[in-house]
Amino acid sequence: MANFTTDASQAYQRLGVKPIINAAGSVTKYGGTRTRSEVLEVMAGAARIMVNVEDLNRKAGEEIARLTGAEAGFVCSGAAGGLVLQAAACIAGTDPVKMRQLPDTTGMKDEIIIQNMHRFPYEQAYRAGGGKLLEIGDSRYSHPWELEGAIGEKTAAVAFLCAPMTNRRAIPLDQVCEIAHSKGVPVIVDAASMLPPRANLRKFLSQGADMVSYSGGKGIRGPQGTGILCGRTDLIEAAAAHANPAQFLGRPMKVTKEEVVGLVTALSMFVEEDEEAEMRAYRALAEQVVDALSEVPGLKVTLEHDENDYLIPHAVLSFGPEWNGPSRNEIAKALEDGDPPIYLHMLGQPDELGVDPLNLTEEETETVVRRLREELTRR
Ligand SMILES: *Cc1c(COP(=O)(O)O)cnc(C)c1O
Repeated sequence: MANFTTDASQAYQRLGVKPIINAAGSVTKYGGTRTRSEVLEVMAGAARIMVNVEDLNRKAGEEIARLTGAEAGFVCSGAAGGLVLQAAACIAGTDPVKMRQLPDTTGMKDEIIIQNMHRFPYEQAYRAGGGKLLEIGDSRYSHPWELEGAIGEKTAAVAFLCAPMTNRRAIPLDQVCEIAHSKGVPVIVDAASMLPPRANLRKFLSQGADMVSYSGGKGIRGPQGTGILCGRTDLIEAAAAHANPAQFLGRPMKVTKEEVVGLVTALSMFVEEDEEAEMRAYRALAEQVVDALSEVPGLKVTLEHDENDYLIPHAVLSFGPEWNGPSRNEIAKALEDGDPPIYLHMLGQPDELGVDPLNLTEEETETVVRRLREELTRR
């Protein structure tokens, strides 16, 4: 028997890795999303055709600009890679002396202001790009005067997080931009998981953001390791200058030519799709879960779909005071430990469990329902 296989199931099997059911959404740890077949197809061919990668990056950027309405665009290595480039671009610009010196920022303005309510694990990417985070506000308030007061000689940028389940008492993006711009400071946005809805491709730029980072491997269903940077021409050019194929700070976050082509293909398809039809399909799967579990005594099951926390229609199970079965964590654990392992969306309230249909087939949804019923009715 040959020592390799091109059959995908066998390839995983040989490594001893079991397929799982991802009802958690576009979570990287559980596989991200299913890459579009058309994208994989074009990537397979593009990988074998040699091109000038700087030329490709520039033309792909122009296409991204066209599709997002931004001045300029760039394909980065995941939204997280985009954050590193955002920081590097704002700190060192295109000065080769400064670029080479990174991540040592001696003699450069390197402070990135962030609201306490926007602090998150990915902020390390800003530090990796040389940023020194300067926090304003607390978990309950941040005031415009705190932002004004924090901006000074050393300020490179103001970071802004657009994400589901984020505290919405932070100073809103348009106001942050107004204050930052009045002092000549750019605003860099992480909107990794905000697509769909497609309207979000333009929303943050229209609110004044100077550079926005989106994941290419989440709702767009492009190559899992890609991201999209778009925004102001000078900043995007600076970000690109730090990135592959140039040998600067961004070089270890390489994006390959076939990934660039794959991302542009995915984004073009995404933009052209009928969002209502897409949402109807997700909604139908979520409803299937809601309907199947609505009779479980003491459990509240609802369909959630809104522009802030549930961008994709979800079935949400709430374990309130009426509930006297196994705890939410016990149920989640039982599903993870079952066969096949099932991962649920755990980001809502501590007493909630979500089923995100983004990665689910009809058949997988039935399995999720069956396993939830089993564990919910276990006594
Ligand atoms: C997923 C996510 C990222 C990382 O995106 P990748 O494309 O996987 O690099 C960064 N920030 C936020 C808020 C995210 O949700």
